[in-house]
Amino acid sequence: MPPTVRDHVRRRDRACVFTRLGIPHLCLGRLELDHVRASGGLGLKSPSTPDNLVLLCPQAHLEKTLHGRRWRPVLLAWIERAERDAD
Ligand SMILES: [Zn+2]
Repeated sequence: MPPTVRDHVRRRDRACVFTRLGIPHLCLGRLELDHVRASGGLGLKSPSTPDNLVLLCPQAHLEKTLHGRRWRPVLLAWIERAERDAD
């Protein structure tokens, strides 16, 4: 992932996105960039672009992994708002 993409997303989100959205969870630990969309299949990678990345803590990441269908639209809506506000 290019450092410019990483920096952009970290500056945009600043904190765990679940926390910024007020989604209750145990927000502890190191924040990591997470790919929002599932990869297209075995051996394919979901794109490492700002419109597909959010900053999440480990608990939020786990929740999103377990319930992707529930959280993916929420996170994509966040990205759309955050990118618009950044302009
Ligand atoms: Zn969190």
